[in-house]
Amino acid sequence: MELVIEGLSKTYANGVKALDNVSLRVPKGMYGLLGQNGAGKSTLMRTIATLQDADAGSIRCGDLDVLKDKEAVRRRLGYLPQDFGVYPRISALEMLDHMALLKGLVHAGDRRAMVNAMLERVNLFAHRKKALASFSGGMRQRFGIAQALIGNPQLLIVDEPTAGLDPGERNRFYNLLAEVGENVIVILSTHIVEDVLELCSRMAIIHQGRVLYEGEPEAAVASLAGKVWQRRVPKADLAALEASHRVISSKMVAGQPLVHVYADASPGEGFTPAAPGLEDVFFSRIGGLC
Ligand code: ADP
Repeated sequence: MELVIEGLSKTYANGVKALDNVSLRVPKGMYGLLGQNGAGKSTLMRTIATLQDADAGSIRCGDLDVLKDKEAVRRRLGYLPQDFGVYPRISALEMLDHMALLKGLVHAGDRRAMVNAMLERVNLFAHRKKALASFSGGMRQRFGIAQALIGNPQLLIVDEPTAGLDPGERNRFYNLLAEVGENVIVILSTHIVEDVLELCSRMAIIHQGRVLYEGEPEAAVASLAGKVWQRRVPKADLAALEASHRVISSKMVAGQPLVHVYADASPGEGFTPAAPGLEDVFFSRIGGLC
């Protein structure tokens, strides 16, 4: 099964064009949708999740027309929204049981077995009787995955799932997602380059509602071979350098800016070749440098 998006556009009532002729092919496995805040990721995620309509374009998932066959899509879909909303005082167990009932698992015994298995899977079984309101960020996200996995979805959408997680929680969450991603289509939206690098075999870069790159992260990185140069510069020289060079990024390293520049040959004295990374790909694409 494959998710195929063609020519998708959406302009909000306030005139913001959140999606501008977006076309993507998303196969089984982990797919990263990388973009800054405001790029249009959530709009795309919500549209695929049948929660809002587009102005133009189509989305097909296997044999389904996602924009029309909404009920059928919802039966195949798991969704972890960016903001999961309120965290009530009821326990993880009670909440999952309730959600499983809503998904149509009416037999209490079957439901309990499935809910327990899900809690084990996301490593929350020991905490099942605790109120969701008391969960840490990482526990909430793992609970979010558990609820999204109820009913064995073939399509799983996770919107900015690692924002706010500490490194340990993020690692546990990565492991869980990687395991899930072996059998279904998982679309992961994020502004964190590392998320894509660690998890995704395919990716798209989205910026101002447009797709600037679609393909394998490694291929994107390889396309920059020999074109990234670095140099430490005094803070006072940064503005001049930005005016005269195609600056990909500047990052403070030990209190001094380390600048990455895009160039076919050495851009000048003091520059050394840098091994390109996915962050260079991201910034050079959204900066229109290549
Ligand atoms: P991302 O998820 O990448 O941060 P969004 O899809 O949330 O991006 O937003 C894309 C653009 O659309 C932004 O400029 C945002 O302010 C705007 N936007 C999002 N939702 C709405 C809405 N309901 N009404 C008006 N503008 C919106």
